[in-house]
Amino acid sequence: MHDLVIIGGGPAGLTAGLYAARSKLDAVLYEKLVPGGQILTTDWIENYPGFPEGLSGFEIVDRMKRQAERFGLKIENREVTSFTPGTPKKIDTDQGTVEAKAVIFASGAAPRKIGIDGETALIGKGVSYCATCDGPFYRDQEVAVIGGGDTAVEEALFLTKFAGKVYLVHRRDKLRAVKILQERAEAEKKLELVWDTIPTRIIGSSGVEALSLKNVKSGMDSTLPVQGVFVFIGYNPNNSLLKGIVEMDDNGFVQTNGDMETSIPGVFAAGDIRSKLLRQVVTAVGEGATAAFAAERYIEAL
Ligand code: NAP
Repeated sequence: MHDLVIIGGGPAGLTAGLYAARSKLDAVLYEKLVPGGQILTTDWIENYPGFPEGLSGFEIVDRMKRQAERFGLKIENREVTSFTPGTPKKIDTDQGTVEAKAVIFASGAAPRKIGIDGETALIGKGVSYCATCDGPFYRDQEVAVIGGGDTAVEEALFLTKFAGKVYLVHRRDKLRAVKILQERAEAEKKLELVWDTIPTRIIGSSGVEALSLKNVKSGMDSTLPVQGVFVFIGYNPNNSLLKGIVEMDDNGFVQTNGDMETSIPGVFAAGDIRSKLLRQVVTAVGEGATAAFAAERYIEAL
C-alpha cells in the first residue's frame, strides 16, 4: 500500500512527485515509456519562466526528473492497465496490482489523427506527429504541416531548418497560433501558408509521395508533391483508465476543481489530461504541485 501513486511522468507528474517526495509521502510514479511525455518531442521551449535563452524539451525533463529523484521520488517503468476507485484505490499494472490511498492522473494527451485515407498506412513512412523526431530525415525535401495552432506553427518553423520547403496547410484564413509565432511564420521564406484548405488523402505506397488537398472556399482540389506530412491538429486526452469513473468534458478531458480534485475523492488530475484553457509546461507544473498538496491533505484526513 502506497500513500500516493502518480500515473504519468511528464512535467505535471514529475512536479507532483517532487512535492510528494518533499512532503515525505510514500509516493511512486509509474511511466510506461520514458519520463518526459510530450515535451520530449518539443525541440525548444522559450516560454518557461526562468530560462531567458530557452531550453530543450529533453533538458527541462531531465532537470525535473533529477530534482524529484534527489528528494526520494521512486520512478518505475510500468504500464497501468486498469484503475478501481474506493478506499484504498486499486491500480493494476503490467507488473502486478498495487494499492494507494490517493492517485494523481497525469497521463497527458496524445496527438489527434486527421482520419484521411493513407494516414494510418503511412505512419513512419512519411506521416509523422513529431517534427523533433523525424524532421532531420527531410533534408532539402518538401513537407506539409497540417494545423494552424501553436504546435503546427512552431513545428513548421522547426522543419524549415531541414526541409527545402514547408507548406503549412490550415483550414481557415487565420492562424490560431500566438501572434509572435504568426509573425515568424510570415517572415520565414521557406514556409508557404496554404489557407482555407483541408487535406483529403495522403498518397504513397512505401513512402509519402503527395498530399491531396481541397480548398474549402472554392471547392478546388489540388495536389502537393511532398515527401513528408506532419500532423498537428490538437490532442486527445489519455483518459481510458478513467472512463465511466470521473466526470469529463465533451472532449474527454477530466474535470477537476481548482485543487485538482476530480469527482471521486482521493483521485486527482493534473496537466494535459485536465479540461482547461492553456496546455503548457508552466500550467502543468503548477497543477502537479497543487494535486500533490491536495492529495497530502486528503491522506492526512483519512
Ligand atoms: P490547438 O491549439 O487545438 O490547434 C489545433 C489546430 O489544428 C487548429 O488550428 C485547428 O484549426 C486545426 N485542426 C483541428 N482539427 C483539424 C482537422 N480535423 N483538420 C484540419 N485542421 C484541424 O492544438 P495545438 O496547436 O496542438 O496546441 C495545444 C495546446 O498547447 C494549446 O493550448 C497551445 O497553446 C499549447 N501549445 C503552446 C505552445 C507554446 O506556447 N509555445 C506550443 C505548442 C502548444 P482551427 O484553428 O480552425 O480550429
